[in-house]
Amino acid sequence: MTATRILVLNSGSSSVKYQLLDMRDSSRLAVGLVERIGEETSRIKHTPLAGGGESRELNGPIADHEAALKAVAAELAADGLGLDSPELAAVGHRVVHGGKSFTSPTVIDEKVLAEIERLVPVAPLHNPANITGIKVARGLRPDLPQVAVFDTAFHTTMPEYAARYAIDVATADEHRVRRYGFHGTSHAYVSRETAKLLGKAPEDVNVIVLHLGNGASASAVKGGVCVDTSMGLTPLEGLVMGTRSGDLDPAVIFHLSRVAGMSIDEIDTLLNKKSGLVGLCGDNDMREITRRMGEGDERARLAFDIYIHRLKKYIGAYYAVLGRVDAVAFTAGVGENAALVRQAAVAGLEELGLALDAERNAVRGEEPRLISANYARVAVAVVPTDEELEIATQAYALVSA
Ligand code: ADP
Repeated sequence: MTATRILVLNSGSSSVKYQLLDMRDSSRLAVGLVERIGEETSRIKHTPLAGGGESRELNGPIADHEAALKAVAAELAADGLGLDSPELAAVGHRVVHGGKSFTSPTVIDEKVLAEIERLVPVAPLHNPANITGIKVARGLRPDLPQVAVFDTAFHTTMPEYAARYAIDVATADEHRVRRYGFHGTSHAYVSRETAKLLGKAPEDVNVIVLHLGNGASASAVKGGVCVDTSMGLTPLEGLVMGTRSGDLDPAVIFHLSRVAGMSIDEIDTLLNKKSGLVGLCGDNDMREITRRMGEGDERARLAFDIYIHRLKKYIGAYYAVLGRVDAVAFTAGVGENAALVRQAAVAGLEELGLALDAERNAVRGEEPRLISANYARVAVAVVPTDEELEIATQAYALVSA
């Protein structure tokens, strides 16, 4: 029997998201989520899709990632999809930070694991959870290839002038301070799907991808290759996000330290967790913000306007970086669902060849679709992202080669 299944694991600090896919037809056999690991109120939501089974929810304390993955394995086994199956080809792990070293998906051995550990200082919130997920999965099936798919890999093609900050080179190099970019799996998938939607090869298209979820990033993709992206050393740089500030004058940090007496950790929390949309108006959900705007709420309006202004600046910047743009693609929670955001982001850019068709923009759907006006020179598209499918595809390509 050939092994064609991939288990995709996305391990966060207190959660594990998972999907089991069959790569013969890229179908999903099961999906699920373990939340609040380490608390009394942990929860597993498991949905077997293969036999059209019902979702199951289990509530009760799950102490750590090991217990969480064992519980996931038990749920899969109950559907006849256990980790001991000879049909399982590999586990694909989402790993947030791969630094400069990892430019493509990689089978994990001791050396690779040590390198992911070495990168913890630049991704203190993410890499430790990814490492735990890898170690636990390896413990459950030591014979199975564990593949790391890095959020940063797609951006390693950025030219040096886009990846380097204009600071002292020796200091930057000693501490690995440079722009790495994140959401790479999504930018790779969406830019390729956008080319497909245009009926062209990725090599022949230049795309600006706008990944607008709770975290948000833009990228400039030239002929299938990333040449710039808005996130930097960490996912804090760039667009206004749900709770992160995005771009600001770095001197804001000195000022808050000297004048407000805030500690570095307090400023870190302020900029990562209490800024962005939530800092501006108290809500980070775009649905709530647009609802409040409808009621004439001024704070929600201003937060929205700041969000859109930043987005527009990046569209303009990446237009200039690419020289010729074939498509602008919106993706992730906000990009796929918030027609008002898409409309506002593109408004006034007719001179750049961008214009929406209002009716197409209003249509909701799961499929990639064009929303630009017929006369527009640049295609505008909504392309739902699928990071799990991309991780599974990359992991499977590696182990079945
Ligand atoms: P994450 O970064 O957590 O993966 P998602 O890509 O799932 O985020 O995006 C989550 C965000 O998408 C929510 O915070 C909300 O702002 C936005 N969102 C989801 N559905 C809608 C909708 N129907 N209309 C507007 N915004 C939406």
